[in-house]
Amino acid sequence: MTLRDKVVIVTGAASGIGRATAIASAAEGALVAVVDRAADGGRETARLIEEAGGRAAFHEVDVTSWAQIETCFASVASAWGRIDGLVNNAGINGPTKDILGYSEEAWDRVIAVNLKSVWLGTKAAVPHLRRAGGGSIVNTGSTASLIGYALLGGYTAAKHGVLGLTRTAAVEYALDRIRVNCICPGPVDTPLMRGIEETLMPDDPVAARELFAGTTALKRYALPEEIAGLAVFLLGDDASYLTGAAYSIDAGVTAGH
Ligand code: NAD
Repeated sequence: MTLRDKVVIVTGAASGIGRATAIASAAEGALVAVVDRAADGGRETARLIEEAGGRAAFHEVDVTSWAQIETCFASVASAWGRIDGLVNNAGINGPTKDILGYSEEAWDRVIAVNLKSVWLGTKAAVPHLRRAGGGSIVNTGSTASLIGYALLGGYTAAKHGVLGLTRTAAVEYALDRIRVNCICPGPVDTPLMRGIEETLMPDDPVAARELFAGTTALKRYALPEEIAGLAVFLLGDDASYLTGAAYSIDAGVTAGH
C-alpha cells in the first residue's frame, strides 16, 4: 500500500476524477478527507470508501472560501493528527463562449473555482505539511494548462494559472520537502465534460463528444480511474524525485496531429 496511514485531502471529490482519486487513495491505505460543496455526492464517496473497508470523512466546503478551507484543513489535522497530501481538484468548465461573450461575473467565477481555489488550498495545506515533515500536493490542471481552447477562455486561463502556481509552489516549498505537481488530463468521462458537450453543441452533444474523443490519438475519453492512478502515484513516496512539473495524461492530445 503506497499511501498507508497518510492523511490525504481531495477537493471536488463528490464526482468524477476527485471521487476516483479519493477511492484509489483509500485503497492504497490513506485516510481520505472528501471535500466538496456537493453534500450528497461527497457523502456517497465517503460511503463507497468505507464500504470497501477504507477510511474517509466528508467535509462540505466551498473551495473559493478561505475561511471554509482553513477551518476544514485544521479540523482534518486535528481529527487525524497530520496532513500528508492534498489534491486540489475541484473545478467547473464555465461558459462555452468566446472571449467577447464572457460576462465579468462568469469570468470571476471560473477563475475563482479553478485557480483561486488552488492558491487557497496550497496556502492552507503548507503549514500542516511542514509540520508533518513534508508532503505532496497534486493540482488538477488540464490539456488546457498547455494549449489554448477556443470558446473556453476563462477555463483555459485558469488552468494555465494552475500550472504556473504549481511551478512556483514547487520552488517555494521544496526545502520543506513538499513536492507540488500538476496533472493535465485530456477528455475524461465526467459530468464536467458532459456540460462542455451540451453547451458547445446543444442540438447534438454526441457529435461534440466524438469531436473531443477525436482529438486524442486513442480516439476515446479516459475513465476517471485512469486519471486517479497518476494522482495517487504523485501523492506517494515512489514519486520522491518529481516536483514542479506537468504530466500530460491525455492519450496524445498534446503530442501532435
Ligand atoms: P466533475 O464535475 O465530475 O467534478 C467536479 C467536482 O468539483 C464536483 O463534485 C463539484 O461539486 C466540485 N466543485 C465545483 N465547484 C466547487 C466549489 N466551489 N467548491 C467545492 N467543490 C466544488 O468534474 P471532473 O471532470 O471530475 O473535474 C475534476 C477536475 O478535473 C477539474 O479541475 C477539471 O477542470 C479537471 N479536468 C477535467 C477534465 C475532463 O475531461 N473531465 C479534463 C481535464 C481536467
